[in-house]
Amino acid sequence: RALVLATPEQRKDAEAASARLGEMSAGVYAEAVMHVPIETARKAREEAARLGADCYVAVGGGSTVGLGKAIALESGLPILAVPTTYAGSEMTPIYGITEAGVKKTGKDRKVLPKTVIYDVNLTLSLPAKIAGPSGMNAMAHLVEGLYAQDANPIISLLAVEGIRTLAVSLPLVVKEPQNLVARSGALYGAWLGGTVLGAVGMALHHKLCHTLGGSFNLPHAEVHTVILPYATAYNQQAAAQELNRAAEALGAKSAAQGIYDLSVKIGAQVALKDIGMPFDGLDRAAEIATQNPYYNPRPVDYAGVRQLLEDAYYGKRPA
Ligand code: NAD
Repeated sequence: RALVLATPEQRKDAEAASARLGEMSAGVYAEAVMHVPIETARKAREEAARLGADCYVAVGGGSTVGLGKAIALESGLPILAVPTTYAGSEMTPIYGITEAGVKKTGKDRKVLPKTVIYDVNLTLSLPAKIAGPSGMNAMAHLVEGLYAQDANPIISLLAVEGIRTLAVSLPLVVKEPQNLVARSGALYGAWLGGTVLGAVGMALHHKLCHTLGGSFNLPHAEVHTVILPYATAYNQQAAAQELNRAAEALGAKSAAQGIYDLSVKIGAQVALKDIGMPFDGLDRAAEIATQNPYYNPRPVDYAGVRQLLEDAYYGKRPA
């Protein structure tokens, strides 16, 4: 019997899933919140034990799937995911848990959902202002997948296909939220994004977003949307061949400009200053993001990253 997980806002979706499961449902736990606090995961595990559940159904975005993963990590119980955003977490063995204010991430095959059901009808209610940035979160997985340290030709094909699909679908999703073809395209792009993220390593862009989200409490999908054009511009010369494929898929002269223009087209915020970043936090963010070495096509140094963050702060179109 399954415990159905959701956020408080999506309780109705979870109740509908629970009703359809009938006797196979153990109940609903609609307490998922952003960044998976360990307390929430513990409470959900206790609730599952009390109700005699032996698997989880996660109906929602990355926060709900993330709660399922945190539970699966300790209990080993299987998750069936029904994603309703474009974050792509349902396709990855990556988990994140926040304990005492610090978000830790890791990888474990145990947390990878055993089954994923994509139902485009469940995405029709996703408002444009969440859908757009969520799609750009998928775009970020795809772009960084192209120049990953362990990139491979098959994953790169998926990445290019995903970028092309999202570039066409996202503007339509925002303009015509009930357009099923556009919504299906966005979900397909999200699936490709999750697949790429689960298969190869990420680089500077994801590191920066983790830093800005974790230390400055900026909203997840929005911070991905703002940073991606600048992280791409930073890597343009070092990963020219790969990013030229992205530019082509975007129908743009450069990948950075194509991504920026897409963000503008979908009405997303393009400046850090407009999503809650204080100017006097830029130094510290650059310090945190350059503290420990990690792979990136262009070497990561403080001055370069500090400049990248300042460009993103003002949100000017990359040159
Ligand atoms: P989210 O899950 O927090 O959802 C945002 C809001 O949209 C919530 O209120 C949710 O209830 C609502 N919502 C979702 N789908 C809806 C729908 N169809 N209709 C109406 N409302 C809907 O946001 P997200 O961007 O999907 O997930 C962000 C989280 O996912 C972050 O914590 C991030 O770290 C994590 N993430 C993890 C991975 C991974 O591989 N582990 C990948 C991407 C994101």
